[in-house]
Amino acid sequence: MQVGLWCVILVVSGQVAGCGATGGGHWYKGNTHTHTELCGHADSSPEAVARWYLERDYNFLVLSEHNIYIDPADVKLPADAREDFILVAGEEISGNEVIHTTGFNIDSLVDWTHNSEHKHEIIQSHVDGTIEAGGLAILNHPNFHYAVTADDMLPVDHLHFFELHNGHPAVRNEGDADHPSTEELWDELLTRGMLIYAVSSDDAHEFKTWSDDVSNPGRGWIMVRSEELTPDALDAAMRAGDFYATSGVMLRRLSFGGGVYRVAVDEGATQRALASPHVRGRIDRGVDVGELALGWLIEWVGPHGEVLASSTGASGEFRLEGGVAYVRCRVSFVRRSERGVERFVAWTQPVFTDDRAGAGGGVCGERGRVLSDLGGPLSGR
Ligand SMILES: [Zn+2]
Ligand SMILES: [Zn+2]
Repeated sequence: MQVGLWCVILVVSGQVAGCGATGGGHWYKGNTHTHTELCGHADSSPEAVARWYLERDYNFLVLSEHNIYIDPADVKLPADAREDFILVAGEEISGNEVIHTTGFNIDSLVDWTHNSEHKHEIIQSHVDGTIEAGGLAILNHPNFHYAVTADDMLPVDHLHFFELHNGHPAVRNEGDADHPSTEELWDELLTRGMLIYAVSSDDAHEFKTWSDDVSNPGRGWIMVRSEELTPDALDAAMRAGDFYATSGVMLRRLSFGGGVYRVAVDEGATQRALASPHVRGRIDRGVDVGELALGWLIEWVGPHGEVLASSTGASGEFRLEGGVAYVRCRVSFVRRSERGVERFVAWTQPVFTDDRAGAGGGVCGERGRVLSDLGGPLSGR
């Protein structure tokens, strides 16, 4: 058994050797999920919404409207718009049983009407429709109305992304006494063998009214490491697991090579991000606020959500050795402000030692194999 595990580790190391160490690719900041007045319950036009992100430091945005396909070509950006900002075509496929899925980088409207007494079949229809439209499917806010459980997600083929963090105040990321947090849900899925990555979005609806009780922008985003800023390049990087989800913590290093997973925070970028009036801390079920130490905490999380190692300070590494199917990193920053104790997190994607590594899973995995695993090659667009 021990020999077999070492073989797996060597294979993993070989696949990703040098990843992240060569400086290839740039980090792009984006939001995969936001709304406009076209849905009837948000307050701003597609142009105004796009401008909000453009005027901040975002590089890409999906106007993911409920069951409406917004063609980016129809959204007029200011003539002097930054060149490093793009809209990615998308839709929030909003189906039965409060099951919502972002179709990212799709080329046409995805049908949302499929119904079934089995929720996994509804999710499957969203995923299949997204793949048919050339895109990548992200299951949104599973804890909204506590609509989606691990058992609803596990049977779904080609589902590899979900919203671990969503900035809408009604989505219950943190769980409650009877329901797991979305992070606990993630560990259950990973522990039971699913290859699934975490996304963070703000799911904004209100750009004119500002309050904790409404869904304002700027509360969650992803950072994607990509060779270029195009929808297909971002899509490919996400399929390779080469991105992280955050509610405010920013990283300057994220790599896996030679069996060692390394992270380092970008303290300056994090301070700038947390100076925003829009970020909101998150305290999950089971986390005792009184126990949280101020400052940085880097935790290496394995199966069943077990913390395998941790350190304070702004960088850390973990050598992936036998007997652990996956490890992921949770980088927290805890501060005290006029809002009380606030905890912000960057969630990096898991690296695997089991057959999910063969599918390219993990930080900077082997892209070609990931693409074929995730439901066919990229569209030719
Ligand atoms: Zn939704
Ligand atoms: Zn939404």
